[in-house]
Amino acid sequence: MPATFPAVRKALRRIAPALATALIPLAAVSQAAPAQAATLTCSSSTPISQRPTIGYGDRGTCVAYAQGLLKKAFFYSGPTTGYWNSDAQTGMAQFATAYRALRRDGSINAAGWTLLEKVNAPFDKFKCGNGSSDKVLLVFDDLPTSTSSYQALIDAAKTGGYGIGIAPNGMHIKSGLVDVNAARARGLLVVDHTYDHYLLTQLSYDKVVWEITQPYNGSNYVRPPYGGINSTVESILAKYKKNDCLWNVDPRDWAKSTSRAPLEVPDFKVTPQQAADYIVGNAWGGSTVVVHLNHLGSDASLLRYIDNGLRARGLSLCRNWGRASNASMPNMYCL
Ligand SMILES: [Zn+2]
Repeated sequence: MPATFPAVRKALRRIAPALATALIPLAAVSQAAPAQAATLTCSSSTPISQRPTIGYGDRGTCVAYAQGLLKKAFFYSGPTTGYWNSDAQTGMAQFATAYRALRRDGSINAAGWTLLEKVNAPFDKFKCGNGSSDKVLLVFDDLPTSTSSYQALIDAAKTGGYGIGIAPNGMHIKSGLVDVNAARARGLLVVDHTYDHYLLTQLSYDKVVWEITQPYNGSNYVRPPYGGINSTVESILAKYKKNDCLWNVDPRDWAKSTSRAPLEVPDFKVTPQQAADYIVGNAWGGSTVVVHLNHLGSDASLLRYIDNGLRARGLSLCRNWGRASNASMPNMYCL
């Protein structure tokens, strides 16, 4: 790979592909691009504004670094060779589609670099994958009242473009009550709520491992029942590469008349509508809400109601992925 006139190459590469890639199908770009390939040098400490655009056939440390970011986000499983091949290009195109980036041709420009870094930011257990500053993530736990109410909820999410989380227990997936693949097909976040619904802090080490490694859910996001964690549970989650998925807004949609409800919900019998109003009034940008499939989730029309209410405050619900989501998800689901 000759390294002559890098500045000229760089300038040419900026002009021509920008026009071509918007119109030419992916396969055609793969054929056309190698002639423009270059050796690119950058690292994690290079400011995004100074990183080069990566396209098919490019090589170098900058390419290897990008492959590593894409791999960490589970969109690329090949080696970090520093050669932007068709696998890396396909992975980047899928990544861009998931996060609804404008450029989806498998190349990486400044916007792509920004997304790759944001998605791989350290996981915050109270945000459960909400890396946004202006969106609210709802994660629905436990079990729906019926297969049809579950279907209505995930269909309403798909129709509205809402990115919600579904956190059913493995036993309800095994029984057929919840279809997690249907949620993934709609670009939603699937979270493992363990197989049973035990307080993990009261189980043996081996039983905790068993609860989070049953095959029915398969997610690398785990919401411990009751939010019950301690250092042992956290170490087990880390050992099995599971993200600990808690919350920082609780409308107590499950609360009964015998429970104390928050002041904002005056009626001790919290209705789905009251829980929705609590979220509209109290959630903030970047917050994550614990709700339940059999409470708030029993009224699918409330997704639109909540989103409309949040928009009046300059916020919105998270957006679903622009493609199917995966079992192993990046650190950030919502940007
Ligand atoms: Zn639960």
